[in-house]
Amino acid sequence: MTSDFMTLAADRIRIVLVGTQHPGNIGSAARAMKTMGLRRLVLVAPEKAPNAESDALAAGADDVLAAAEHFDDLASALAGCTRVMGCTARSRRVALPELAPRDAAVALIDGAVQGDVALVFGRERTGLTNDELHLCHQAVHIPANPDYSSLNLAAAVQVLAYETRIALLDRVASGEAAEPRDPPASHEQLEGFYTQLADTLDAIDFHKGRTPDSAMRKLRRIFNRAALDERDVRLLRGVLADAQRMARLAADASGSNGAPGA
Ligand code: SAH
Repeated sequence: MTSDFMTLAADRIRIVLVGTQHPGNIGSAARAMKTMGLRRLVLVAPEKAPNAESDALAAGADDVLAAAEHFDDLASALAGCTRVMGCTARSRRVALPELAPRDAAVALIDGAVQGDVALVFGRERTGLTNDELHLCHQAVHIPANPDYSSLNLAAAVQVLAYETRIALLDRVASGEAAEPRDPPASHEQLEGFYTQLADTLDAIDFHKGRTPDSAMRKLRRIFNRAALDERDVRLLRGVLADAQRMARLAADASGSNGAPGA
C-alpha cells in the first residue's frame, strides 16, 4: 500500500515548466524531480527544445527528460488536473490565495489522492504571465530574501519537489495513504457505535456511580470531530467488542472465585 501510494502520487503530480529559456534548466529540473521521486515533467513551449546541455545537467535523470510531455500552451498542459499551483518569485502578485511551499505540498498530496495535480513554473526572465497565473487555483511563493527573491528555476523546482516528498512521506507514515477513503459512516452506523460504547463503559464500570450522560456527550463530540468512515467504525467496534469480552471474563472470574458473602 505504501509504495503503491508513492507510485500513484508520483504519476499524478505534473511539474510544468512554461516557456523555459535555458535548456540546461530543463535538465536540472529533471534531476531535481528524480531525486525526490517525481517523474512527470511537462514542457510548455520552451524557447529551445531540450538538447545536449539538458542531458548533461539531467545527469542520471535522462529517463525523466526523455519521457517529458510537450504542449504548446499551458491550458492544454493542465487538462485533467483538479488542482493547479503556480509558483511565483514575487509575493502577492495576483489575486490568488498564496501558500507557503509546505502547505502547498500538503494540499497537492491531498489533491493527488483524487486525481492529477500540477505545479507550474515560469520563465527565467519574466516568470508566469498574469493569464497563466489565472489558470492556477493557488499561488506558491518560496519565502526567500525579499531583496533577492528569485531562485534559479531548477532550484525552485527542487524546493517544491522536496516539500512534496516530505508531505508524501508524512502521509504514508500517518497511515492516511489509503486510496480512496472508505465512505463516511452513516448516522445508523455511528449510533450503533455509540450504543456499544455506552454499554462497554457500563461493563468496565467507567462511570463509577456518576450519571453517564455527560461523559457520553463529550465522547460523542470527540468522535464526531474525527469524521469517522465505515472502516474506522468497524475498527473501533472491534476494540469495544474485545473490551466487553474481557469485562465478561473478569466478571465470571470474580463470580467463580466466590466473592465474600456470595
Ligand atoms: N524574474 C522572474 C523570476 C523567474 S525565476 C520573476 O520575477 O518572476 C523562474 C521561475 O522559478 C519562476 O517563474 C517561479 O516559477 C520559480 N521561482 C523562482 N523563485 C521563486 C520563489 N521565490 N518562489 C516561488 N517560485 C519561484
